[in-house]
Amino acid sequence: MHELGIANSVLEAVRVELGRYPGAIPVRVALRVGELAGVDADALAFSFRAITAGTEWESVALEIQTSPRQQRCPACGNAFRVIDYGFACPVCGAPRTECVGGDELELDYLELEEP
Ligand SMILES: [Zn+2]
Repeated sequence: MHELGIANSVLEAVRVELGRYPGAIPVRVALRVGELAGVDADALAFSFRAITAGTEWESVALEIQTSPRQQRCPACGNAFRVIDYGFACPVCGAPRTECVGGDELELDYLELEEP
């Protein structure tokens, strides 16, 4: 399962980050997932709970923020969200625009509690 691998990577990232703050307690980890990243947010949340249950990471809440697909118009520089597969530029009407966002999968922030 793809999402299980991602959940493990997230936990690994939390571990690495915690190494820089000895003694701190992780409270929340937030991920930004683009709608083009091919990640099922529910499955990812489930996987994360599954691998942290009964461990020292059990209290860490996973927050998943999805980000929409973004296009940019090379003609006028306008950046916009795609709604209903409308890829034409809403400002100047250029039919060809390029994808500049929405495929990201990254750690947004990690909330820690000082001991
Ligand atoms: Zn344009």
